[in-house]
Amino acid sequence: MANEARKRIRKLLRKTERSAARIMSAQDAAREHIVAEILNPRYTRGGGASRTALYREIVSTYGKAARVMDGEMYGICREAAEAASNKAATRTLYEIISPANGENPAAAWARNMSEATISALRNEFIETAREAAQKGMAKRYIQGLLRRRWNEAAMDAQNFQFVDRAGRHWNQDAYARMLTRTTAQRAYNEAVLDRLAADGQMYVRITSPGVPDCAICKQWNNLVVRITEDGEGPVPTVADATEAGVFHPNCLCFLEAVDGAPR
Ligand SMILES: [Zn+2]
Repeated sequence: MANEARKRIRKLLRKTERSAARIMSAQDAAREHIVAEILNPRYTRGGGASRTALYREIVSTYGKAARVMDGEMYGICREAAEAASNKAATRTLYEIISPANGENPAAAWARNMSEATISALRNEFIETAREAAQKGMAKRYIQGLLRRRWNEAAMDAQNFQFVDRAGRHWNQDAYARMLTRTTAQRAYNEAVLDRLAADGQMYVRITSPGVPDCAICKQWNNLVVRITEDGEGPVPTVADATEAGVFHPNCLCFLEAVDGAPR
């Protein structure tokens, strides 16, 4: 990989790390706020109305953290476009990450976290109510039990884990790092492809700023591939590489311009 490109990518990845740190602290703040609210007697004292108010508070808290995430994602698209010498692509890159008629990763995270947290609390409530009914407990006693159960739900880290569409469980920090790094990589590569296609180029090299630590990427590292089906010879395409598993979450394979066809 050309030194200049490697330097730019390393710089992009350092900026991405700082974005991840800001996302993590927004997520931490959301979690801490929600735990504090779950423990707030205001929400455990009353009936259905106070629970609804708590659920609304949970959704709004995760929503705020999601807006921080989304701002960082836009920033990463801008940095990636700049690093790939295609600053004009920022908007387009952001729209790929955050489609107008689809859900962006931050919104998906907020929805998923809200559902998981509310469902955990609801389960605690149902379980407690069932137990109380069986034992014919006094109302005062039920409230104490309910509060204790909710406290447990608030402290249980499982209730604050993000589960992605593939069903993978992420701890908050690993998810923030994966999301920002993968976004940076994807935005950078799209910006490179966009610039090269506009130049009428047909080939691109798959390369890594360091030594790839995964078997798939090791195989493809330093290979020249075709941008589209155009071009000569039995040269695989970017799509073939993607299909083989390159550009997976957390992948550090980047694309770089090459001079002419591979020999
Ligand atoms: Zn890999």
